[in-house]
Amino acid sequence: MNGSSFHQPAPATAVFEALMGQRIPGGCEDCDAYQTVEVTAPGIYSLQVHHDATCPTYMAIVAARHGGGR
Ligand SMILES: [Zn+2]
Repeated sequence: MNGSSFHQPAPATAVFEALMGQRIPGGCEDCDAYQTVEVTAPGIYSLQVHHDATCPTYMAIVAARHGGGR
């Protein structure tokens, strides 16, 4: 299981609440990814994109994180 986290503002909390625990298809054009909604802190929702292990986009994200892209 691979995941990358993107924090997004929550314009409609109820929408995220409804999606909690569900797998939302999509999130990446390069693989058969799915997304999940996680609560990272009270009132803070995080949309997690779960890529395939072989996804070139995911590999690029990992490479960027490990390539000193601070
Ligand atoms: Zn992907």
